[in-house]
Amino acid sequence: MVIAIDGPAGAGKSTVARAVARELGFTYLDSGAMYRCVALAVSRTGADPDDGDAAGEVAERVRIEFDDGRVSLDGEDVSAAIRTPEVSALASRVSVHPRVREALVAEQRRLIASGRYVAEGRDIGTVVSPDAPLKVFLGASDEERARRRAAETGEPFEEVLRAQRERDRRDREREHAPLRPAEDAVELDTTGLPVEEVVARVVELARERGL
Ligand code: C5P
Repeated sequence: MVIAIDGPAGAGKSTVARAVARELGFTYLDSGAMYRCVALAVSRTGADPDDGDAAGEVAERVRIEFDDGRVSLDGEDVSAAIRTPEVSALASRVSVHPRVREALVAEQRRLIASGRYVAEGRDIGTVVSPDAPLKVFLGASDEERARRRAAETGEPFEEVLRAQRERDRRDREREHAPLRPAEDAVELDTTGLPVEEVVARVVELARERGL
C-alpha cells in the first residue's frame, strides 16, 4: 500500500514524503533515486544514455537497495554520487525510455506490495500505483523551487533554474509516463508555505482516509 507524492523537481517531495512516512510509521521510497542510480550506472559503463535498449539493459541488470537513508548500487554506497547536477540531467534522459521505466516500475511495485509506503516521484499516482488510497501532487513556482535547490546544494540560482526548466520540460513532454497529476490527486501549491504545514496537511489527508 502506498501514499503517492508526485511533482516536479524541487517541489519539496523528499522532505515532505520523508516526514509523512516518519509520522505515520510508513517506509519512505525515493523512486527518483532509482532513476539516478541507472543514470550513474549508464555513465560508468559508457553506454549511450539516449539509446533505450542500452539504458534498459543497465536498468534490468543493476541492484538498487535502500538502507536507513542510504542508497546502494550493486553493493556500493552511491548516496552522494547520484546527487550531482550531471547525474540529475542524465536521470531525466534515461527515464524517457520505456524499457528503463518498466524495469524500475516493476521493482517499485514489488517493494510497495511488501508493506506500507510513502513513495515520491513523477508517476507514482498515475502509473506505479493508480489504486493508491491517497495521491498528492506537490507544486511550487519555478523560482521558489530553484531557490530551494540552490540553497540546498550551493549552486548558482540562475544555473539551477536553467537546468530545472530543461529537466521539467523533458519530464512533462516525454511520451511514456509524463509528469502530470493523477485525476484524483490532491494538488498542493507549496509556494511560500512552511514545510511543516505541508506535512501536517498530508498527514491529515491520510488520517481522513483511515491510513
Ligand atoms: O526526483 P528526482 O529529482 O531525484 O528524479 C530524478 C529524475 O528521475 C527526474 O528528473 C525524472 O526524470 C526521473 N524520475 C522519473 N520518474 C519517477 C522519479 C524520477 O522519471 N517516478
